Amino acid sequence: MTQKLSITDLPITGHRVLMRVDFNVPLDKERHITDATRIAASLPSIQHVLDHGGSVIAMSHLGRPKGADPQLSLRPCADKLAELLGRPVQMAPDAIGPQVEAMAAALQPGQVMLLENLRFHKGEEKPDADPNFAPALARLGDLYVNDAFGTAHRAHASTATIAQHFPGKAAAGFLLQKEIQFLGEALLNPKRPFVAVLGGAKVSSKIGVIEALLKKVDTLLIGGGMAYTFFKARGLDIGNSLFEADMLPKAREILASIQHDPQRLLLPVDHLVADAFDNSAKTQLLPTTQNVPPGWLGVDIGPKTVEAFSRVLRIASTAFWNGPLGVFEIPAFAQGTTAVAHVFAQLPATTIVGGGDSVAAIQQYHLADKITHISTGGGASLEYIEYGTLPGIEALSPKAV
Ligand code: AMP
Repeated sequence: MTQKLSITDLPITGHRVLMRVDFNVPLDKERHITDATRIAASLPSIQHVLDHGGSVIAMSHLGRPKGADPQLSLRPCADKLAELLGRPVQMAPDAIGPQVEAMAAALQPGQVMLLENLRFHKGEEKPDADPNFAPALARLGDLYVNDAFGTAHRAHASTATIAQHFPGKAAAGFLLQKEIQFLGEALLNPKRPFVAVLGGAKVSSKIGVIEALLKKVDTLLIGGGMAYTFFKARGLDIGNSLFEADMLPKAREILASIQHDPQRLLLPVDHLVADAFDNSAKTQLLPTTQNVPPGWLGVDIGPKTVEAFSRVLRIASTAFWNGPLGVFEIPAFAQGTTAVAHVFAQLPATTIVGGGDSVAAIQQYHLADKITHISTGGGASLEYIEYGTLPGIEALSPKAV
Protein backbone atom coordinates (compact mmCIF):
# COMPACT_ATOMS: atom_id res chain seq x y z
CA MET A 1 0.00 0.00 0.00
CA THR A 2 1.32 3.45 -0.91
CA GLN A 3 1.96 5.66 2.08
CA LYS A 4 -0.83 8.11 2.74
CA LEU A 5 -0.73 11.79 3.59
CA SER A 6 -0.79 12.46 7.34
CA ILE A 7 -2.61 15.20 9.20
CA THR A 8 0.87 16.48 10.10
CA ASP A 9 1.58 17.05 6.37
CA LEU A 10 -1.35 19.45 5.92
CA PRO A 11 -0.93 23.25 5.80
CA ILE A 12 -3.47 23.76 8.57
CA THR A 13 -2.96 27.41 9.54
CA GLY A 14 -5.95 29.55 8.58
CA HIS A 15 -7.81 26.63 7.03
CA ARG A 16 -11.03 24.80 7.82
CA VAL A 17 -10.43 21.09 8.29
CA LEU A 18 -13.36 18.83 7.47
CA MET A 19 -12.75 15.84 9.72
CA ARG A 20 -14.56 12.49 9.58
CA VAL A 21 -14.62 11.24 13.16
CA ASP A 22 -16.34 8.27 14.75
CA PHE A 23 -18.86 9.61 17.26
CA ASN A 24 -21.10 6.56 16.92
CA VAL A 25 -21.36 6.28 20.70
CA PRO A 26 -23.81 4.25 22.79
CA LEU A 27 -26.74 6.31 24.16
CA ASP A 28 -29.22 5.42 26.90
CA LYS A 29 -32.99 6.07 26.66
CA GLU A 30 -32.55 9.70 27.76
CA ARG A 31 -29.91 10.10 25.05
CA HIS A 32 -27.06 10.34 27.53
CA ILE A 33 -23.75 9.03 26.24
CA THR A 34 -22.90 5.89 28.22
CA ASP A 35 -19.35 5.54 26.88
CA ALA A 36 -17.50 8.54 25.41
CA THR A 37 -14.30 6.63 24.55
CA ARG A 38 -14.71 7.31 20.83
CA ILE A 39 -15.13 11.06 21.34
CA ALA A 40 -12.10 11.17 23.63
CA ALA A 41 -10.13 9.20 21.02
CA SER A 42 -10.70 11.95 18.43
CA LEU A 43 -9.15 14.67 20.61
CA PRO A 44 -5.52 14.39 19.46
CA SER A 45 -6.42 15.11 15.80
CA ILE A 46 -8.89 17.89 16.67
CA GLN A 47 -6.45 19.47 19.11
CA HIS A 48 -3.66 19.29 16.52
CA VAL A 49 -5.73 21.37 14.08
CA LEU A 50 -6.67 23.91 16.75
CA ASP A 51 -3.08 24.19 17.98
CA HIS A 52 -1.93 24.90 14.41
CA GLY A 53 -4.32 27.77 13.81
CA GLY A 54 -7.03 25.89 11.94
CA SER A 55 -10.71 25.32 12.60
CA VAL A 56 -12.48 21.96 12.71
CA ILE A 57 -15.70 20.86 11.07
CA ALA A 58 -16.26 17.43 12.56
CA MET A 59 -18.70 14.96 10.99
CA SER A 60 -19.93 11.50 11.95
CA HIS A 61 -22.83 9.12 11.75
CA LEU A 62 -24.72 7.88 14.79
CA GLY A 63 -26.77 4.69 14.73
CA ARG A 64 -28.85 3.64 11.77
CA PRO A 65 -31.44 6.37 11.21
CA LYS A 66 -33.97 6.10 8.43
CA GLY A 67 -34.06 9.75 7.42
CA ALA A 68 -33.79 12.62 9.92
CA ASP A 69 -34.48 11.32 13.42
CA PRO A 70 -34.11 13.66 16.43
CA GLN A 71 -33.45 10.63 18.64
CA LEU A 72 -30.20 10.14 16.73
CA SER A 73 -29.07 13.76 16.69
CA LEU A 74 -25.36 14.28 17.34
CA ARG A 75 -26.09 17.13 19.77
CA PRO A 76 -25.14 15.08 22.87
CA CYS A 77 -21.77 14.46 21.17
CA ALA A 78 -21.27 18.21 20.57
CA ASP A 79 -21.86 18.84 24.29
CA LYS A 80 -19.48 16.05 25.28
CA LEU A 81 -16.81 17.22 22.84
CA ALA A 82 -17.09 20.78 24.20
CA GLU A 83 -16.64 19.44 27.73
CA LEU A 84 -13.59 17.37 26.77
CA LEU A 85 -11.99 20.13 24.68
CA GLY A 86 -12.76 22.87 27.20
CA ARG A 87 -14.08 25.13 24.47
CA PRO A 88 -17.47 25.69 22.78
CA VAL A 89 -18.58 23.45 19.93
CA GLN A 90 -21.17 24.79 17.50
CA MET A 91 -23.86 22.30 16.54
CA ALA A 92 -24.93 22.55 12.90
CA PRO A 93 -28.64 22.12 12.15
CA ASP A 94 -27.85 19.65 9.35
CA ALA A 95 -24.89 18.05 7.59
CA ILE A 96 -25.20 20.18 4.43
CA GLY A 97 -27.14 23.17 3.09
CA PRO A 98 -26.87 26.97 2.90
CA GLN A 99 -27.19 27.53 6.64
CA VAL A 100 -24.43 25.03 7.39
CA GLU A 101 -22.26 26.56 4.64
CA ALA A 102 -22.71 30.00 6.21
CA MET A 103 -21.70 28.65 9.63
CA ALA A 104 -18.67 26.92 8.13
CA ALA A 105 -17.62 30.05 6.25
CA ALA A 106 -17.80 32.10 9.46
CA LEU A 107 -15.60 29.70 11.47
CA GLN A 108 -12.48 31.33 12.89
CA PRO A 109 -9.17 29.61 13.69
CA GLY A 110 -9.53 27.73 16.97
CA GLN A 111 -13.27 27.18 16.53
CA VAL A 112 -15.02 23.83 16.27
CA MET A 113 -18.32 22.85 14.75
CA LEU A 114 -20.05 19.48 14.51
CA LEU A 115 -22.31 18.57 11.62
CA GLU A 116 -25.59 16.79 12.23
CA ASN A 117 -25.79 13.01 11.70
CA LEU A 118 -24.50 12.24 8.20
CA ARG A 119 -26.87 9.29 7.85
CA PHE A 120 -29.90 11.58 7.93
CA HIS A 121 -29.05 11.79 4.19
CA LYS A 122 -29.23 8.68 2.07
CA GLY A 123 -26.30 9.93 -0.02
CA GLU A 124 -23.97 9.16 2.92
CA GLU A 125 -24.26 5.39 2.70
CA LYS A 126 -25.16 5.38 -1.01
CA PRO A 127 -23.03 8.04 -2.65
CA ASP A 128 -24.24 6.95 -6.11
CA ALA A 129 -27.90 7.37 -5.16
CA ASP A 130 -27.32 11.04 -4.32
CA PRO A 131 -24.19 12.25 -6.13
CA ASN A 132 -24.69 15.78 -4.76
CA PHE A 133 -24.16 14.84 -1.12
CA ALA A 134 -20.37 14.35 -1.11
CA PRO A 135 -19.69 17.60 -3.05
CA ALA A 136 -22.04 19.49 -0.71
CA LEU A 137 -20.05 18.23 2.26
CA ALA A 138 -16.76 18.98 0.54
CA ARG A 139 -17.74 22.63 0.06
CA LEU A 140 -17.63 23.09 3.83
CA GLY A 141 -13.88 22.63 4.29
CA ASP A 142 -10.49 23.46 2.74
CA LEU A 143 -8.74 20.27 3.87
CA TYR A 144 -10.00 16.76 4.63
CA VAL A 145 -8.95 14.38 7.40
CA ASN A 146 -10.29 10.89 7.99
CA ASP A 147 -9.88 9.78 11.59
CA ALA A 148 -12.74 7.26 11.68
CA PHE A 149 -11.18 3.81 11.42
CA GLY A 150 -14.42 2.13 12.49
CA THR A 151 -16.10 3.13 9.22
CA ALA A 152 -13.04 3.07 6.95
CA HIS A 153 -14.21 -0.28 5.52
CA ARG A 154 -17.29 1.46 4.10
CA ALA A 155 -17.06 3.34 0.81
CA HIS A 156 -19.44 6.04 2.02
CA ALA A 157 -19.64 9.70 0.99
CA SER A 158 -17.83 11.03 4.08
CA THR A 159 -15.26 8.24 4.26
CA ALA A 160 -14.27 7.69 0.64
CA THR A 161 -16.10 9.61 -2.13
CA ILE A 162 -15.40 12.99 -0.54
CA ALA A 163 -11.62 12.57 -0.81
CA GLN A 164 -11.83 13.12 -4.60
CA HIS A 165 -12.72 16.72 -3.85
CA PHE A 166 -9.50 17.25 -1.91
CA PRO A 167 -6.71 16.20 -4.29
CA GLY A 168 -3.40 16.31 -2.42
CA LYS A 169 -5.27 17.48 0.69
CA ALA A 170 -6.95 14.33 2.02
CA ALA A 171 -5.04 12.99 5.01
CA ALA A 172 -5.18 10.36 7.74
CA GLY A 173 -5.74 11.52 11.31
CA PHE A 174 -3.74 10.19 14.26
CA LEU A 175 -6.25 7.49 15.17
CA LEU A 176 -6.40 6.12 11.64
CA GLN A 177 -2.60 6.20 11.38
CA LYS A 178 -2.24 4.27 14.62
CA GLU A 179 -4.61 1.58 13.36
CA ILE A 180 -2.77 1.33 10.04
CA GLN A 181 0.53 1.11 11.87
CA PHE A 182 -0.56 -1.65 14.25
CA LEU A 183 -2.73 -3.67 11.91
CA GLY A 184 -0.46 -3.12 8.94
CA GLU A 185 2.90 -3.74 10.54
CA ALA A 186 1.92 -6.22 13.23
CA LEU A 187 -0.59 -8.32 11.33
CA LEU A 188 0.40 -8.08 7.69
CA ASN A 189 4.07 -8.47 8.47
CA PRO A 190 3.98 -10.23 11.82
CA LYS A 191 6.74 -11.38 14.13
CA ARG A 192 6.35 -15.15 14.34
CA PRO A 193 4.90 -17.28 15.71
CA PHE A 194 1.69 -15.42 14.79
CA VAL A 195 -1.41 -16.81 16.48
CA ALA A 196 -4.96 -15.59 15.92
CA VAL A 197 -8.05 -16.39 17.96
CA LEU A 198 -11.40 -16.07 16.21
CA GLY A 199 -14.71 -16.41 17.99
CA GLY A 200 -18.20 -15.05 17.62
CA ALA A 201 -21.37 -16.31 16.17
CA LYS A 202 -21.21 -16.85 12.44
CA VAL A 203 -18.80 -18.52 10.07
CA SER A 204 -20.42 -16.71 7.15
CA SER A 205 -19.58 -13.25 8.52
CA LYS A 206 -15.92 -14.18 9.00
CA ILE A 207 -15.24 -16.68 6.26
CA GLY A 208 -13.01 -14.30 4.27
CA VAL A 209 -11.03 -13.55 7.40
CA ILE A 210 -10.66 -17.24 8.29
CA GLU A 211 -9.26 -17.93 4.81
CA ALA A 212 -7.00 -14.86 4.88
CA LEU A 213 -5.70 -15.66 8.36
CA LEU A 214 -5.04 -19.30 7.52
CA LYS A 215 -2.59 -18.08 4.90
CA LYS A 216 -0.83 -15.78 7.36
CA VAL A 217 -0.85 -17.33 10.81
CA ASP A 218 1.18 -20.10 12.32
CA THR A 219 -1.92 -21.19 14.23
CA LEU A 220 -5.55 -20.14 14.05
CA LEU A 221 -7.64 -20.94 17.13
CA ILE A 222 -11.38 -21.02 16.48
CA GLY A 223 -13.98 -20.98 19.26
CA GLY A 224 -17.46 -19.60 19.90
CA GLY A 225 -20.56 -20.36 17.91
CA MET A 226 -18.68 -20.55 14.62
CA ALA A 227 -16.83 -23.69 15.75
CA TYR A 228 -20.02 -25.75 15.51
CA THR A 229 -20.28 -25.67 11.74
CA PHE A 230 -16.76 -27.16 11.73
CA PHE A 231 -17.76 -29.83 14.27
CA LYS A 232 -20.75 -30.71 12.12
CA ALA A 233 -18.40 -30.94 9.13
CA ARG A 234 -16.38 -33.47 11.14
CA GLY A 235 -19.54 -35.55 11.58
CA LEU A 236 -20.40 -34.64 15.18
CA ASP A 237 -24.01 -34.32 16.33
CA ILE A 238 -24.16 -30.74 17.62
CA GLY A 239 -27.72 -30.72 19.03
CA ASN A 240 -29.18 -27.23 18.93
CA SER A 241 -25.80 -25.47 18.70
CA LEU A 242 -25.38 -22.62 16.28
CA PHE A 243 -25.06 -24.01 12.77
CA GLU A 244 -24.94 -22.56 9.28
CA ALA A 245 -25.93 -25.30 6.84
CA ASP A 246 -24.82 -23.33 3.78
CA MET A 247 -21.33 -22.96 5.28
CA LEU A 248 -20.89 -26.71 5.68
CA PRO A 249 -19.14 -27.28 2.30
CA LYS A 250 -16.78 -24.37 3.03
CA ALA A 251 -16.03 -25.73 6.51
CA ARG A 252 -15.27 -29.16 4.98
CA GLU A 253 -13.02 -27.53 2.40
CA ILE A 254 -11.11 -25.64 5.08
CA LEU A 255 -10.66 -28.76 7.23
CA ALA A 256 -9.44 -30.69 4.18
CA SER A 257 -6.99 -27.92 3.29
CA ILE A 258 -5.23 -28.18 6.65
CA GLN A 259 -5.17 -31.98 6.78
CA HIS A 260 -1.42 -32.08 6.23
CA ASP A 261 -0.79 -29.19 8.59
CA PRO A 262 -3.22 -29.81 11.46
CA GLN A 263 -1.47 -27.35 13.79
CA ARG A 264 -2.59 -24.49 11.57
CA LEU A 265 -6.18 -24.63 12.78
CA LEU A 266 -7.19 -25.73 16.26
CA LEU A 267 -10.81 -26.19 17.28
CA PRO A 268 -12.00 -26.59 20.89
CA VAL A 269 -11.25 -29.99 22.43
CA ASP A 270 -13.95 -29.64 25.08
CA HIS A 271 -16.94 -27.39 25.61
CA LEU A 272 -19.74 -26.43 27.92
CA VAL A 273 -23.13 -27.56 26.70
CA ALA A 274 -26.41 -26.34 28.16
CA ASP A 275 -30.02 -27.49 27.95
CA ALA A 276 -31.21 -23.89 27.45
CA PHE A 277 -29.92 -20.46 26.45
CA ASP A 278 -30.22 -19.29 30.01
CA ASN A 279 -28.01 -18.46 32.99
CA SER A 280 -29.77 -21.05 35.14
CA ALA A 281 -29.71 -23.78 32.48
CA LYS A 282 -28.41 -27.28 33.28
CA THR A 283 -24.85 -27.60 31.92
CA GLN A 284 -22.16 -30.22 31.44
CA LEU A 285 -18.61 -30.26 30.10
CA LEU A 286 -18.09 -32.60 27.17
CA PRO A 287 -15.17 -33.49 24.93
CA THR A 288 -15.85 -32.34 21.40
CA THR A 289 -15.45 -35.92 20.19
CA GLN A 290 -18.71 -36.80 21.96
CA ASN A 291 -22.09 -35.99 20.46
CA VAL A 292 -24.07 -33.13 22.00
CA PRO A 293 -27.29 -34.59 23.48
CA PRO A 294 -30.40 -33.78 21.43
CA GLY A 295 -31.90 -30.43 22.47
CA TRP A 296 -28.68 -29.25 24.15
CA LEU A 297 -26.35 -26.62 22.72
CA GLY A 298 -22.70 -25.62 22.95
CA VAL A 299 -22.29 -22.30 24.74
CA ASP A 300 -18.64 -21.95 25.78
CA ILE A 301 -15.20 -23.48 25.34
CA GLY A 302 -14.11 -25.81 28.16
CA PRO A 303 -11.07 -25.69 30.50
CA LYS A 304 -9.02 -28.15 28.42
CA THR A 305 -9.50 -25.90 25.40
CA VAL A 306 -8.46 -22.85 27.42
CA GLU A 307 -5.31 -24.77 28.38
CA ALA A 308 -4.64 -25.90 24.79
CA PHE A 309 -5.21 -22.40 23.39
CA SER A 310 -3.04 -20.88 26.15
CA ARG A 311 -0.15 -23.21 25.34
CA VAL A 312 -0.14 -21.99 21.74
CA LEU A 313 -0.62 -18.35 22.72
CA ARG A 314 2.18 -18.33 25.27
CA ILE A 315 4.84 -18.97 22.62
CA ALA A 316 3.39 -16.43 20.16
CA SER A 317 5.28 -13.26 19.24
CA THR A 318 2.15 -11.73 17.72
CA ALA A 319 -1.37 -12.55 18.91
CA PHE A 320 -4.65 -11.27 17.50
CA TRP A 321 -8.13 -11.83 18.94
CA ASN A 322 -11.57 -11.15 17.52
CA GLY A 323 -14.85 -12.49 18.85
CA PRO A 324 -16.00 -14.06 22.13
CA LEU A 325 -15.42 -17.78 22.68
CA GLY A 326 -18.84 -18.38 24.15
CA VAL A 327 -22.10 -16.63 24.90
CA PHE A 328 -20.23 -14.32 27.25
CA GLU A 329 -23.20 -12.02 27.83
CA ILE A 330 -24.60 -14.83 30.03
CA PRO A 331 -22.29 -15.06 33.09
CA ALA A 332 -22.53 -18.86 33.35
CA PHE A 333 -21.24 -19.13 29.76
CA ALA A 334 -18.47 -16.49 30.01
CA GLN A 335 -15.64 -18.49 31.54
CA GLY A 336 -13.82 -19.31 28.32
CA THR A 337 -13.90 -15.71 27.08
CA THR A 338 -12.80 -14.44 30.52
CA ALA A 339 -9.92 -16.90 30.65
CA VAL A 340 -8.69 -16.04 27.16
CA ALA A 341 -8.91 -12.31 27.95
CA HIS A 342 -6.66 -12.86 30.98
CA VAL A 343 -4.23 -15.01 28.98
CA PHE A 344 -3.99 -12.26 26.35
CA ALA A 345 -3.27 -9.67 29.04
CA GLN A 346 -0.31 -11.69 30.28
CA LEU A 347 1.33 -12.47 26.95
CA PRO A 348 4.79 -11.06 26.24
CA ALA A 349 3.73 -10.92 22.55
CA THR A 350 2.46 -7.93 20.59
CA THR A 351 -1.26 -8.31 21.34
CA ILE A 352 -4.03 -6.87 19.21
CA VAL A 353 -7.70 -7.12 20.04
CA GLY A 354 -10.35 -5.99 17.58
CA GLY A 355 -14.11 -6.31 17.51
CA GLY A 356 -16.82 -4.90 19.75
CA ASP A 357 -17.40 -7.98 21.90
CA SER A 358 -13.81 -8.98 22.50
CA VAL A 359 -12.90 -5.36 23.25
CA ALA A 360 -15.89 -5.20 25.63
CA ALA A 361 -14.62 -8.34 27.38
CA ILE A 362 -11.14 -6.86 27.76
CA GLN A 363 -12.60 -3.65 29.15
CA GLN A 364 -15.01 -5.45 31.45
CA TYR A 365 -12.08 -7.17 33.14
CA HIS A 366 -10.01 -3.93 33.22
CA LEU A 367 -7.25 -5.41 31.07
CA ALA A 368 -7.11 -2.75 28.34
CA ASP A 369 -3.78 -1.30 29.49
CA LYS A 370 -2.19 -4.76 29.17
CA ILE A 371 -3.01 -5.08 25.47
CA THR A 372 -0.60 -3.60 22.91
CA HIS A 373 -3.34 -2.30 20.63
CA ILE A 374 -7.10 -2.30 20.95
CA SER A 375 -8.61 -1.65 17.55
CA THR A 376 -11.50 0.81 17.46
CA GLY A 377 -13.11 -0.96 14.53
CA GLY A 378 -14.15 -4.59 14.67
CA GLY A 379 -15.44 -5.00 11.11
CA ALA A 380 -12.80 -2.63 9.80
CA SER A 381 -9.93 -4.52 11.45
CA LEU A 382 -11.17 -7.81 9.99
CA GLU A 383 -11.53 -6.35 6.51
CA TYR A 384 -8.10 -4.81 6.80
CA ILE A 385 -6.66 -8.25 7.55
CA GLU A 386 -8.65 -9.76 4.68
CA TYR A 387 -7.83 -7.20 1.98
CA GLY A 388 -4.71 -5.47 3.30
CA THR A 389 -6.33 -2.05 2.93
CA LEU A 390 -9.73 -0.32 3.24
CA PRO A 391 -11.72 2.04 0.97
CA GLY A 392 -11.39 4.89 3.49
CA ILE A 393 -7.60 4.51 3.48
CA GLU A 394 -7.25 4.00 -0.27
CA ALA A 395 -9.20 7.21 -0.96
CA LEU A 396 -6.65 9.39 0.87
CA SER A 397 -3.97 11.35 -0.98
CA PRO A 398 -0.58 9.68 -1.40
CA LYS A 399 2.24 11.13 0.65
CA ALA A 400 4.41 13.43 -1.44
CA VAL A 401 7.92 11.99 -1.81
P1 AMP B 1 -19.69 -11.77 16.40
O1 AMP B 1 -20.45 -10.49 16.24
O2 AMP B 1 -19.69 -12.63 15.21
O3 AMP B 1 -18.30 -11.54 16.97
O4 AMP B 1 -20.50 -12.62 17.47
C1 AMP B 1 -20.62 -12.24 18.81
C2 AMP B 1 -21.70 -13.07 19.44
O5 AMP B 1 -21.38 -14.45 19.35
C3 AMP B 1 -21.90 -12.79 20.91
O6 AMP B 1 -23.13 -12.17 21.09
C4 AMP B 1 -21.88 -14.18 21.55
O7 AMP B 1 -22.91 -14.38 22.48
C5 AMP B 1 -22.08 -15.09 20.36
N1 AMP B 1 -21.59 -16.44 20.59
C6 AMP B 1 -20.37 -16.82 20.97
N2 AMP B 1 -20.31 -18.15 21.15
C7 AMP B 1 -21.53 -18.64 20.91
C8 AMP B 1 -22.12 -19.95 20.93
N3 AMP B 1 -21.39 -21.02 21.28
N4 AMP B 1 -23.42 -20.06 20.59
C9 AMP B 1 -24.15 -18.98 20.26
N5 AMP B 1 -23.65 -17.72 20.22
C10 AMP B 1 -22.36 -17.55 20.54
